[in-house]
Amino acid sequence: MLDGAVHVRVADRHLAHPHQRRGGRAMSTQSTQSTQSTQSRAESYEALLPEITPENRPYWDGLAESELRLQNCDACGEYRFPDSEVCPRCLSGSFTWRAVSGKGRLWSWIRMHQRYLSAFDDVRPYLVAYIKLDEGPPIISTLVDAPDDLAFDLPVRAVFEPGFSERTILKFAVERPEDSE
Ligand SMILES: [Zn+2]
Repeated sequence: MLDGAVHVRVADRHLAHPHQRRGGRAMSTQSTQSTQSTQSRAESYEALLPEITPENRPYWDGLAESELRLQNCDACGEYRFPDSEVCPRCLSGSFTWRAVSGKGRLWSWIRMHQRYLSAFDDVRPYLVAYIKLDEGPPIISTLVDAPDDLAFDLPVRAVFEPGFSERTILKFAVERPEDSE
């Protein structure tokens, strides 16, 4: 049903409420995992979040304010993601962080059934979406409330989901006609 809502709820449980989490799992799955392995699952989820550094902080601060901010090259105007010291196009080291539209197109996607990361056990299968932002750079993310009939070039827009260990995470949603009215 609500893909994204499930993601958030599960993540909250993993990160903030280990005791509630165990209860939730017992009701919703047939897991026989021990308390110890459940504990390590929570740790592994948190370990997936990249460290906040002085270099990438503007990106995370932007998400917390429901804004997608990217580095924009002062020399050639290229937007880039993730953050890097120099422009991948012209190698200039001069850039400015700018808010972008958050709009893009679905370029490719995959529903992940295989278990690679134990932190995602409760949300499999999950959708991995490769999105080309209108400003140029590609971003690998996921779609919330993804319909079954996904299609290449589908318009999407950024959505901002707080609650991941005090961070807001970038996801995307399919752009619906009423959104742009
Ligand atoms: Zn450049």
